[in-house]
Amino acid sequence: MKATFLYGPRDIRFEERDEPKILKATDAIIRMSATCVCGSDLWPYRGIQKITEPTPMGHEYCGIVEEVGNAVKTVKPGQFVIGSFCISDNTCPNCRAGYQSGCQNLEFMTGAQAPIARVPLADGTLVATPELPSDDLLPSLLAVSDVLGTGWFAADAANVKPGSTVVVVGDGAVGLLGVLSAKQMGAERIIAMSRHPTRQNLAREFGATDIVTERGDDGVARIKELTKGIGANSVLECVGTQESMMQAIRSTRPGGSIGYVGVPHGAQLDREQLFFTLVRLHGGPAPVRRYLPDLIKLVLDRTINPGKVFDLVLPLDQVAEGYRAMDERRAIKALLRP
Ligand SMILES: [Zn+2]
Repeated sequence: MKATFLYGPRDIRFEERDEPKILKATDAIIRMSATCVCGSDLWPYRGIQKITEPTPMGHEYCGIVEEVGNAVKTVKPGQFVIGSFCISDNTCPNCRAGYQSGCQNLEFMTGAQAPIARVPLADGTLVATPELPSDDLLPSLLAVSDVLGTGWFAADAANVKPGSTVVVVGDGAVGLLGVLSAKQMGAERIIAMSRHPTRQNLAREFGATDIVTERGDDGVARIKELTKGIGANSVLECVGTQESMMQAIRSTRPGGSIGYVGVPHGAQLDREQLFFTLVRLHGGPAPVRRYLPDLIKLVLDRTINPGKVFDLVLPLDQVAEGYRAMDERRAIKALLRP
């Protein structure tokens, strides 16, 4: 089969490799129905996160189970499954507390931008749907695997409640689905920070009530203006830069909460500055596995349509164009069909 590898900055190759096999009794092999390019894949793609050897890419996936190891009990061949980008046993104390992304046996999924992939710890990682889903639901089911699960965690970590005022920093797929998540959790006012008309439109469709195009001091001033001078209860930080984190902290009211899910790159927090803001910070890699059953149900019920973040669909062998389109911000998120 052919699969996706990153060789260096902006060097994506779709090339021959052996088909993955069961290596451990807890593994499953799945045939991909759809996969995609993640915003976090762009960090190594742009050379900001260094790689030392050709690296198999892809950690968002859904598909049909082909084969399972002897110890796998909860999924079986022929089922449609969705998994998290975090591989977890779902039985250790951290998993039982709902933090599968802090699993004592944590691994990160790789190699999903391929027709077939190996998923370790299948029982703890994969969730099967009751029946094979119809084709039009695939984008939304794929979104659950990472971007929706991550946006949902950002909203949950930011303590979004019915009636909340929410600010979402970042208009990538995670930020947009953070808007959708806040809406589902009953937020009354959702302020999306975005400068791009197509992304603003999608944010509105997902439930944003206000759009702020300013950034930095002007952005903070605008948020204060919209919140009677105090800032928001709940702020979702969905970028990972120094600028976005400071934007989030300065947009939060004293006693308010920030859910931060943007993977930090070179960001630093000034403790003294943070001390006087009185904000709560909770974030990290999202424990998507905790939310999978509920989010899958919301998609199957057609209550939510997170798959709308995929504004580019390509055959898997054109994966390099998917990276280019996202890098150049011509696409929000590229879905790949094997
Ligand atoms: Zn665990």
